Amino acid sequence: MYKKILVAYDGSDHAKKAVEHAVALAKVFGASIHIITVATDPSQISLEKAGRIAGEAAKAVQSQGLQVGEVAVRSGTPADEILNYAEEKEVDLIVMGSRGLSALQRLVLGSVSQAVVSRARVPVLVVR
Ligand code: ATP
Ligand code: MG
Repeated sequence: MYKKILVAYDGSDHAKKAVEHAVALAKVFGASIHIITVATDPSQISLEKAGRIAGEAAKAVQSQGLQVGEVAVRSGTPADEILNYAEEKEVDLIVMGSRGLSALQRLVLGSVSQAVVSRARVPVLVVR
């Protein structure tokens, strides 16, 4: 069912949980895991920091004995980059956290998850 799973990873606790779910699904389905971290403006996630964050997710996946298909570090608007990547690489599932790094916890879904869930053409697993 799922052969290529994309994890959108910003280093937050929710994103860490998303990695765990992606790993469990990859084991069941024999899927490869791709990781994407999007650098935003420097005060939030710089390109350098994005590289480190993505590497941390790759390590977590590999420590579970799974191969990482690709670790992508992009810059721009996170939802756009995640959605473009998903289409380019023809992933069949996107796994992400319900919330991210933002301190504001008023809403159930952060703006990135909200946008990806609304616009993705493949299933999205939102991890709480
Ligand atoms: P907001 O950013 O809207 O203020 P938030 O930070 O709590 O709120 P989101 O940014 O939507 O919530 O984060 C939800 C999930 O989206 C994260 O757990 C992660 O999976 C993904 N995500 C968010 N930002 C990025 C990013 N820069 N790169 C990759 N994935 C991201
Ligand atoms: Mg955020």
